[in-house]
Amino acid sequence: MIRYTLACERQHSFESWFQNSAAYDKQAKRGLVTCPVCNSSKVEKAIMAPRLARADVPEPPPPVPTPPAAAPPAPQAKTAVAIMSSQERELRQKLKELRDHVTKNANYVGPKFPEEARKIHYGETEHRSIYGEASPDEAKALHEEGIEFHPLPILPDDQN
Ligand SMILES: [Zn+2]
Repeated sequence: MIRYTLACERQHSFESWFQNSAAYDKQAKRGLVTCPVCNSSKVEKAIMAPRLARADVPEPPPPVPTPPAAAPPAPQAKTAVAIMSSQERELRQKLKELRDHVTKNANYVGPKFPEEARKIHYGETEHRSIYGEASPDEAKALHEEGIEFHPLPILPDDQN
């Protein structure tokens, strides 16, 4: 059995059961399907409006991810960034000046920094300003030997 919603030529809407769609076609053709209101046999299957989802039901808001209580340390690959006040910008400028001063006035020794730093520390060579690179392990070893040095301030500009 199949149920059709039908409408006559005067737009009376009614429902009727048929054995199947072929049975409906056959009966409609023969004028056997009539409107119960006006008895017209000019009936057609009504165009069904699709049921629209209710638009007035609000969607549940997406869950807001809650940040973990203790943020894990930032991965090395990320660049530290900050919104700075004018004082901090001034400090940053001073760091840049310090860095520029060091790099202009000190000798760049590159990866030989630990070696050169030791020579200076142990008086094997004249005391002078040097700068270069040291791995975290090398830096730790130098500190343990009591060799004083400072990391050069790294500015985001340097990474361009
Ligand atoms: Zn009718």
